[in-house]
Amino acid sequence: ASGARIEVGTTARSLARRSDGGWTIVVGSADEPRLVQADAVIVAVPARPAARLLSEVAPAAALELARIEYASVALVTMAFAQRDFPAVVGSGFLVPPVEKRMIKAATFSFAKWDWVREAGNGTLVMRCSLGRHRDEHQLQVSDEELVEIALGDLADAIGLSVRPIDQHVQRWGGGLPQYAVGHLDRIATVRAEVGRLPGLAVCGAAYDGLGIPACIASAHLAVSTLLPDLPVRTYVGLGRMSPWQPA
Ligand SMILES: Cc1cc2nc3c(=O)[nH]c(=O)nc-3n(C[C@H](O)[C@H](O)[C@H](O)COP(=O)(O)OP(=O)(O)OC[C@H]3O[C@@H](n4cnc5c(N)ncnc54)[C@H](O)[C@@H]3O)c2cc1C
Repeated sequence: ASGARIEVGTTARSLARRSDGGWTIVVGSADEPRLVQADAVIVAVPARPAARLLSEVAPAAALELARIEYASVALVTMAFAQRDFPAVVGSGFLVPPVEKRMIKAATFSFAKWDWVREAGNGTLVMRCSLGRHRDEHQLQVSDEELVEIALGDLADAIGLSVRPIDQHVQRWGGGLPQYAVGHLDRIATVRAEVGRLPGLAVCGAAYDGLGIPACIASAHLAVSTLLPDLPVRTYVGLGRMSPWQPA
């Protein structure tokens, strides 16, 4: 109804400030680049592509963003016959690095969400999260091996002794930003430089928290900093839609 145009699956390649204060974004493939003109831009991509986009217009912010490291994650989702699964308490558990295990967390999805248990109709679905920061090499094995590793850790943790009736492995390379000591100062530096450029803001998991609510809050903050200066209510989104898998 607002007349907004939403483009998904389009890569933003570079960002430049026009002499009249507006913005030009180069989008599309390297072979067929296109220009998008905008009154304001919210850079809502992960830290490294954000650093590339900001490198010309906000080099200090780009430098800080480029330093944010990301961890990769693999999710091993498994289905078990209810009669085979050991009795467990709660909706799952977390595993600290000191345990020297590959699983970081187990979520008993059937216990966490009633609808998962009901939909299972006697089949229990649960999942393990594997992969720690700077241990990406541990994920460079086949899906089958990841399932075996998860089963081994579950055997030790909850006494699981049966195999799943089905399994699915999903990999999220570089999916989780890591907040190092000094992160708040880093983000303050980014926002200070970006904030000096009217019509530009940043948001997403790299800034104020990586859970969905924190990402939404950072988006609200970005929009609220831009709206007062906009000549008209114009919005060009730079994010690309991804499938969402609940933890
Ligand atoms: C396995 C896993 C499980 C999680 N579980 C939970 C959970 O249970 N609850 C919870 O609250 N949070 C969870 N999180 C965290 C949360 O999902 C993420 O932190 C959040 O979705 C990040 O949102 P975002 O918009 O910042 O980034 P993203 O969702 O990564 O969106 C950024 C988008 O930018 C696009 N992009 C990148 N470069 C460009 C470019 N140059 N041009 C255009 N587009 C570009 C990408 O394709 C991507 O679509 C989980 C994360 C992972 C990896």
